[in-house]
Amino acid sequence: CAKERGRNDMAYYEEGLAVAMRQRTSLEADLRHALERDEFEVFYQPRVCVHTRRVVGAEALLRWRSPERGLVMPDDFIPVCESSGLIMPIGLRVFEQVARQQAEWAARGLDLQISVNLSPRQFSHPGLLDGIRAALRVAAGRPARLEIEITESMLLARDERPREVLDAFEAMGMSIALDDFGTGYSNLAALQRYPIHTVKIDKTFIQGLDTDRPLADMIVSMCRLMRLTVVAEGVETCDQLDWIAGRAIDQYQGFLCARALPAAAFEARFIDEPLAA
Ligand code: C2E
Ligand code: MG
Ligand code: MG
Ligand code: MG
Repeated sequence: CAKERGRNDMAYYEEGLAVAMRQRTSLEADLRHALERDEFEVFYQPRVCVHTRRVVGAEALLRWRSPERGLVMPDDFIPVCESSGLIMPIGLRVFEQVARQQAEWAARGLDLQISVNLSPRQFSHPGLLDGIRAALRVAAGRPARLEIEITESMLLARDERPREVLDAFEAMGMSIALDDFGTGYSNLAALQRYPIHTVKIDKTFIQGLDTDRPLADMIVSMCRLMRLTVVAEGVETCDQLDWIAGRAIDQYQGFLCARALPAAAFEARFIDEPLAA
């Protein structure tokens, strides 16, 4: 009868919820161990100059090398790091690892600007700036060769906090990029109001239907007027690269050149031969 079915549905629902909660709790516990056991590894995806086709930088993209789960991608663990607060200590390790790697590569003649992603919880954390300063001190990092990647939603706070944080990054010598541009509020005024140096056009525009492209064209023109560096994300095909090369786009990232690679694989490919394609 219906009543019984309702009870059964409820039982299923509660069981499903309990399973999801157990999984989340065990993932969180595993992430804590992973931090203690140093299982987080930064991969690097080349940023290529559209005109010279040389590798001019890299984006730091985090991976979790778990002995039990294998190589885990950020979309599968960053959300739990965010909700648990673990993103703070993990994120600072990223800065430390990147600064060390950058110094090592610079000493061998590969001077790259490296960009590091911040998530909302990191961006609004009161200890962020001190944490980053400390991490860079430990690793003798060079802020002038670092770029911070934020997303538009982080600029929507009504208080002065986003400005204070961005001003502080700029004062340290870092540059600031708006990531996934075009997918959010695309508040062009924000580009003027905040110290932003780079705009990364989201891959949906690059890969998207031609109907998206007039909008992408408009964004590129605006960025050019504001003297921003424009980066195209998610370039996978030669056709997409041709389209980009015909526009005022400075750099691109994408599988066409390379996926994010472990540091050793990155340098094997790009230290001696920085030409991308
Ligand atoms: P994102 O910052 O927008 O990074 C770009 C994502 O697009 C990366 O996914 C990259 O591997 C992928 N990608 C690059 N080229 C192509 C392409 O040609 N085609 C396609 N389909 N994808 C491409 P990934 O590494 O899985 O990272 C996902 C997201 O996780 C990042 O998006 C970023 O928001 C976040 N993330 C990664 N590392 C960190 C980190 O250290 N800290 C924080 N807070 N977030 C991170
Ligand atoms: Mg990014
Ligand atoms: Mg992006
Ligand atoms: Mg993103």
